[in-house]
Amino acid sequence: MFVRFALTAKLNFNNELSSDAKNSVEKTVTESNTVLFKKGVPKGTQEREIGRITTWSVEENTIYLFIESGTYTRAHDALFRFKKQITTALGKFRLGLRGIEISEYQINLSGEIPDGIRIPNLPFIKSYDLKSNEICLDLKVTAADLENKVPDRLVKLIEEKIQAMSYGGKGEHWDLVFASKPKPKQFTRDPTEEMVNRNWIRHGASRGQWIHGPQSVQLFRAFEQIVIEKIIRPLGFSEMIFPKLTPWEVWKRSGHAKGVYPEIYYVCTPKTRDPTFWEDVGDFFKVTGEVPIDMIREKMDGPIGGLCYAQCPSFWPFIQGETLATASLPIKVFDRSGTSHRYESGGIHGIERVDEFHRIEIVWLGTAEQTVELADKLHEAYHQVFEEILELEWRCARVTPWFMAQEGMIDTGKAPQNIDTCACDCGKRVGTTDYEAYLPYSDSWLEFQNVSINGDKYPKGFNVKIQNNEPCWSGCSGVGLERWTAAFLAQKGLDIEAWPDKIVKLVGEPNEIFKFL
Ligand code: ATP
Ligand code: ZN
Ligand code: MG
Repeated sequence: MFVRFALTAKLNFNNELSSDAKNSVEKTVTESNTVLFKKGVPKGTQEREIGRITTWSVEENTIYLFIESGTYTRAHDALFRFKKQITTALGKFRLGLRGIEISEYQINLSGEIPDGIRIPNLPFIKSYDLKSNEICLDLKVTAADLENKVPDRLVKLIEEKIQAMSYGGKGEHWDLVFASKPKPKQFTRDPTEEMVNRNWIRHGASRGQWIHGPQSVQLFRAFEQIVIEKIIRPLGFSEMIFPKLTPWEVWKRSGHAKGVYPEIYYVCTPKTRDPTFWEDVGDFFKVTGEVPIDMIREKMDGPIGGLCYAQCPSFWPFIQGETLATASLPIKVFDRSGTSHRYESGGIHGIERVDEFHRIEIVWLGTAEQTVELADKLHEAYHQVFEEILELEWRCARVTPWFMAQEGMIDTGKAPQNIDTCACDCGKRVGTTDYEAYLPYSDSWLEFQNVSINGDKYPKGFNVKIQNNEPCWSGCSGVGLERWTAAFLAQKGLDIEAWPDKIVKLVGEPNEIFKFL
């Protein structure tokens, strides 16, 4: 993708420019083009890639500039460098800069443009022209927008959209790491249907939500106990409680604000808690038996954020802005304090894809080496559990989550930073490993948990540092209890006689307390 920037700017001064002042402008333009704009640009960069004032003129109080660039000293960066220089130069003539107007700003991206790409609908974009090999954007921006790097972010956004479209689904970046031996098929029905038949679970009143009866919870707790005893405790993780309402502030830093919107359960607050403000709503319900949704909508503020989506982002404000002592690293914590919520729309299925689910989230951080080492220990421990305790037919595979694809981590398999300081090649390890279990009833595979090495994404986002200024990395692993249960029951069935001994011992006899007539 080739990118070109071009802008026309007017620099307005408090007084008319004398001919001496004009000479000074000419000198500054030449100096800018030959020296100033080339500062920091790698040697050998093509001239046309570097910002350059291609035309200029002076009329009365105003300097008119036309600046063009490729991706080095972009047109707007050149403008600000020139501004600094010219204010000093013209200060000598008692001329002061009153303001900068951007009369035109064009961006041109050329390369292969995928069909169906959507140009963002933003107030900065006055018009655009979209062809199969070129996008031209006509912007309406102020000098403040340019200082806020709007053109750079816009280009990044469009490049990400192009990359996401050519990246396609998860499937393309799925590399098998390990597959267990196939297991004899003991059970071939859908475990959710069977759980419902036996009254282990019943639909909750909300969409994608189940009420788990005692028998189902016995399984959840048994799995939780396995995770605690075989993984969390031996590896030294400590329990914390992460909040389950996530405000925008957290998602802005975790990166979820870039694209999680279609799956959020949004949270709003009342405009006031004054009972008289809400009296109409209660009255309406008392008389009609209906809850007046539209009336409520008008009395709400927000949304202020959403219900827990991924569990770990809410942990980070605990250490935000801090520098952690080497002695406390790696930090190892976990949370199992509440539900996660995702609007799965039509994708809802059984207990394995629901809108409300239960997950143990394991989080760790430290140096790159420590982070990778812990991920390896987790992989080992999980391996042990799935082979020797749950006796599952399972596999694990390296996948690339969308945020890493977006941030350009996929092609090189490298995190986009400072890995040269590390000898163990951990840069190549940034990414996610999904664990999948075979579902005999549908002859398909279900992701039931994952382990992610997130590189410096979270420490950067939440401004967390470690002693000695070493790069700080983190990882997380989400153990989905519904998914473990679905995987286990799909393979082993619901009859306890067919379960591995260790599981039988942990679960105990199904506790049947409801007798329906
Ligand atoms: P999928 O591709 O199946 O939608 P995901 O990639 O969205 O999964 P992650 O965001 O990686 O899942 O979430 C981590 C873990 O959370 C999953 O491995 C799974 O155990 C659990 N999980 C995610 N979404 C759901 C859901 N809708 N219902 C139940 N468990 C879920
Ligand atoms: Zn996480
Ligand atoms: Mg999902």
